[in-house]
Amino acid sequence: MTSLRLRRLVTKRAADRCEFCLIHQDDVPQHHEMDHLVARKHGGRTVAENLALTCLPCNRHKGSDQTAMDPETQTLVPLFNPRIHAWREHFELDGARIRGLTPTGRATANLLQFNFPVRVDIRRWLIVKGRYPQRVQLSGWRHLSHALTPIPVCISFQTLTSPSGRPSRRQDAPPRPMRPSVWNRERAAPDRLP
Ligand SMILES: [Zn+2]
Repeated sequence: MTSLRLRRLVTKRAADRCEFCLIHQDDVPQHHEMDHLVARKHGGRTVAENLALTCLPCNRHKGSDQTAMDPETQTLVPLFNPRIHAWREHFELDGARIRGLTPTGRATANLLQFNFPVRVDIRRWLIVKGRYPQRVQLSGWRHLSHALTPIPVCISFQTLTSPSGRPSRRQDAPPRPMRPSVWNRERAAPDRLP
């Protein structure tokens, strides 16, 4: 399979959402990436079964790791693997925060810094705009596509990870100025969650 066909398959399978933190790739300035769940340096192959659509912050924090410490039990556990695990069995949404429900969920949320303040603020703003699932909407997300509106968010990876990046507390404005070229294109509505 060509790399382009593989990317299309992985993107469509994930409904354009990061398979870890669920942010839609139209709501970040950088295209989501294809993460090798088992890194190539560990023998992982570039095949659909070993790939996950991943936003830049999740991918950078995960790196080539396959395990991480559960902050609650202080034990080393496998990271969440969207090809094996169901998102809802390992995580839940508490407002804009993603809470780990299992050792794997907690370790993944911690390692990938799901709840870094700026990322939580972005999700809170996207929830207001109907671009990110709320807890009660998880099962009915596919029916919300008619209500989705373009979101002018432009966030750099540095902003998402730097402690000096101060999140905006306003819910009626994005944390960063709009980049029109990104947002003028038509968005694919999410049709399912993992
Ligand atoms: Zn992510």
